[in-house]
Amino acid sequence: MPSVYSPSNLMKPLLMIPGPVELSPKVAEAAAALPPGHMSPAFVETFARALQAMRVVFAAGSESQPFVTAGSGTTAMDMAAANLVEPGTRALVLWSGYFSDRMAEILRRYGAHVTVVYPGGDAAFDEAMIGRAPGRQEVEQALKRHGDHALLFATHVDTSTGVRVDAEPLAKLARARGMLSVFDGVCAAAGERFDMDAWGADVYLTASQKALGLPPGLALLVASSRALAARKARRSTPPPLVLDWEQWLPIMRGYEEKTPKYFATPATGLIVALDASLQELLAIGMNEVFERQKQAALRVRGALSLESLVRSPDDAAYTLSAFHLPKGKDASFVKQIAANGVIVAGGLIAPIAPRYFRVGHMGHAARTPLMIERTIDAINAAL
Ligand code: PMP
Repeated sequence: MPSVYSPSNLMKPLLMIPGPVELSPKVAEAAAALPPGHMSPAFVETFARALQAMRVVFAAGSESQPFVTAGSGTTAMDMAAANLVEPGTRALVLWSGYFSDRMAEILRRYGAHVTVVYPGGDAAFDEAMIGRAPGRQEVEQALKRHGDHALLFATHVDTSTGVRVDAEPLAKLARARGMLSVFDGVCAAAGERFDMDAWGADVYLTASQKALGLPPGLALLVASSRALAARKARRSTPPPLVLDWEQWLPIMRGYEEKTPKYFATPATGLIVALDASLQELLAIGMNEVFERQKQAALRVRGALSLESLVRSPDDAAYTLSAFHLPKGKDASFVKQIAANGVIVAGGLIAPIAPRYFRVGHMGHAARTPLMIERTIDAINAAL
């Protein structure tokens, strides 16, 4: 089996897109091992430890429930919607980019009446909204204008724009107004602070291939006791079987209590890697993880004289940076950077996609100065 330390791996281009990301050597080694059986005692220990560690990394209380299933970030979004939305449920979606549109589309498919809340509070999309974050004020305005809603959805960090919403006041406002709050933390979890319990958030969801620093393939979600109660109380048809919290609850609790049961085969190999990643994070300490993530972002932005897509530095995520292409460069700029050994990503959101590019600097890369410096050098050389 080729070692993760082999010269060919060390010479490979650096993957600095906003997911999938570079893996730490420990996680890469765990991910490369043969997958264990889902009932093997060693795997049960590993899964139990990973579920407990998820509560710490997401700052979730003992009442809340972590779920880990095979899938991607979209699976986790689908799971949140499938359990919480019944036909006619009113949902607010805060718009901060491409993934807010995806959330709204998923919600509509379960029959939700969706009110999209744009930055500035306007009723319709305008290109000038790209790079801005809606906040508390817009939500209050929307509630005044459109009446009560049962659910509030926000993208913690939108990967298409690099915008981070201020999750704490949104979660607190949702609680105060009797709404359940759901945060898409796919491009944020384990990279941006999120104190689920203290802020009273109800669902935080993510995927394995971002700041958790794993290969793609896992959908992860933590649900509050309020969110679980809402699923229990639903009166219409149950969610699709594979997304149903009621199906997964005894499985997740079973693993945590070391009495495993079968429902649908867990992605055992990836869960072993998840445990390796979470233990690495806990050994560093989450405060330190978030601080190093922030310092990496500030270093990248400080070292490049490029204009950020995000209008206010306060709204700029630490997990990725989105920059307008400099004058005289077109979308082939990312290929010029790749020729310097670093893979970055093009733009994602219409209609400005050809006019900007994105650099992912999350997880292990954010804590590895050599990777950050190599990225800066590759971009500067292309400039
Ligand atoms: N939400 C956000 C914020 C994302 O960045 C992504 C993936 N880029 C998704 C959702 C969807 O995740 P996936 O591609 O893993 O399905």
